[in-house]
Amino acid sequence: MKKIAVLGSTGSIGQQTLDVVRALPDKFKIIGLAAGNNIDLLKKQISEFAPKLVYYRDRKIKLNADSCKLATMEEMAIHPEVDILIIATSGKASLNAIMAAIKAGKKIALSNKEPLVMAGEIIMAEVKKDHPSQAEILPVDSEHSAIWQCLNGENLKPARIILTASGGPFLRHSTAQLAEVTAEQALKHPSWKMGQKVTIDSATLMNKGLEVIEAHWLFDMPYDKIDILIHPQSIVHSMIEMQDGSVKAQLSCPDMRFPIQYALSYPGRWQNPTLPKLDWGRIDSLKFELPDYDDFPCLKLAIEAGKRGGTYPAVLCAADEMAVDLFLKKKIGFSDIAKIIEQILGRHQNTTNPKLADILAADEWGRAEASQWKS
Ligand code: MG
Repeated sequence: MKKIAVLGSTGSIGQQTLDVVRALPDKFKIIGLAAGNNIDLLKKQISEFAPKLVYYRDRKIKLNADSCKLATMEEMAIHPEVDILIIATSGKASLNAIMAAIKAGKKIALSNKEPLVMAGEIIMAEVKKDHPSQAEILPVDSEHSAIWQCLNGENLKPARIILTASGGPFLRHSTAQLAEVTAEQALKHPSWKMGQKVTIDSATLMNKGLEVIEAHWLFDMPYDKIDILIHPQSIVHSMIEMQDGSVKAQLSCPDMRFPIQYALSYPGRWQNPTLPKLDWGRIDSLKFELPDYDDFPCLKLAIEAGKRGGTYPAVLCAADEMAVDLFLKKKIGFSDIAKIIEQILGRHQNTTNPKLADILAADEWGRAEASQWKS
């Protein structure tokens, strides 16, 4: 039985993690649940799963759960009973908990992109240090889970990583058409069920750019060996090209419960009757095309920020989060998201080899800049 704590239990990935737990009740014991929003759902989860530890961002709210103890996310991350910490939070909320968990030698199932994008160098350096027991990052992002599964059993580093991208709802839209799209249209993702921020990031392809940076740190791959391939059906979740030119891919229905469950069952695999199977009779072809970097400038901005390194990726994340929020509130147009990010990155004074404090300061700076943005 795996003892787990879920940080971000009321968000999309958190809820789908609990779906996996519900489907396989003999495999898990929930030690901790942490949420930043949606107190009503958290209360329901507490009564269903009876965790030992709970956290809610607003400390003033009473949880009415006498059997459980209030804890911080860091306390949950290092709790001796927790085997696997699931990071399903958004933004930088769990950065400190991740660092604490690594030092405590925990397994960390990581779905939240920003920590690795902002502080990948610091996080991976800490993972590689000698701790009393060895921490491990288990990727939950579907693309990175796919690469991880493909690497399983290979001794050599791959020659290339090929990240697939659905292309989002605006694939093949012209720049002029993109300027007109609405938040409602952007929130209708063709293949994945996800939270609002990730769905908008998928529409701008910023999500894929962040995933390139994530892959760079997770798999220690140089940026010029990470390719992006548009694959609208979202059945091939990513691929590796090996030294001999042979390519391995991982396929499944587009359902986040697959990568979530793999991170939890690793190195094993579990039968889960609630997961959908691919219906080969209904798939007549798998389509692939190269991305258009000119129509989707966020992709270029993200990869550029990743290559420059230092505090650029933290500013990228901060500016993107603020810009997406402005777009969802209908204060800016879709094409303005990339313009805001580009302007702010252009004004940033980079700090090379940053400490965590420099990264957090760059994040604050990026947010302050975005909040002053006028169209
Ligand atoms: Mg992904």
